[in-house]
Amino acid sequence: MKEIAEGVYQLSGFPPNAINVYLMNGVLVDASTRYATGRILRQLKGRELSAHALTHAHPDHQGASHAVCEALGLPFWVGEGDVDAAENPDLIGERQPDHWLAQLFWRTMTGPGHAVDRALREGDDVAGFRVLEVPGHSAGHVAFWREDDRVLILGDVLNGADSLTGIPGLREPKSFFTPDPARNRASARRLEDLAPKVVAFGHGPVCRNTRKFVDFVGSLGS
Ligand SMILES: [Zn+2]
Repeated sequence: MKEIAEGVYQLSGFPPNAINVYLMNGVLVDASTRYATGRILRQLKGRELSAHALTHAHPDHQGASHAVCEALGLPFWVGEGDVDAAENPDLIGERQPDHWLAQLFWRTMTGPGHAVDRALREGDDVAGFRVLEVPGHSAGHVAFWREDDRVLILGDVLNGADSLTGIPGLREPKSFFTPDPARNRASARRLEDLAPKVVAFGHGPVCRNTRKFVDFVGSLGS
C-alpha cells in the first residue's frame, strides 16, 4: 500500500486504481468486492486497526466487509441511510436502477450483510476526518473530509476513471449504477467549495490538481 496523505494509505489492487480501498488513520474505508478478502487481509497484516467504514453500501465497496470485520474483529460503521442495505444486501439490488449491468454487478460482487455498529451522520468525526452526507449514488453515501490538509475521500460521488473501461479522467458515476443522479450531482457541487488538495476516489487514481477538480465540478449543470 502507498501513503497518499498523512496517515492515509491506498491499498494496492489489480488493475491498479480500479476499485479502491483506503486505510485512514487505522480505519479501513471500503472493502471492494467479495473476491478481495485475501488481498485486503494480506496488506493489513501487522497493522493496528480500529474500525471498518463504508462510503456506501454497493457491491464493489461492501463485498469483503463481512469477512474482514469477522477476521479482524472490527466494528462496522456505515452512513445512516445505507445501514439497512449494509445489513441486508438484497436491498442493494432493489435500489439499483433496473439495468442489466447493475443487476449483474449486484449478483456477482455483493458480499454478505454485516451488523452495523455505528450509523454515520453529517459532522461525525471518524479518525480525524469529518463525515459529509453526500447522497444520490446511494441513499446513505458519505465522504470523509480533513480540513487541515484538505484531504477528501469521496467514494463514488465522482469517479476518477471510467468505472467500466478504467480510462482515467474525472466523471460522474454511471447513471445505471446511480439511483438518484440529480441528487448525486447536488452532492458533487457541495464538494466544489471545499477546494480539496488530495481527492481519493472509489475508482481511479488520486487527484492532486485542485483546479482541475473544482473546474470539473463547476462545469456540471445544477
Ligand atoms: Zn463503486
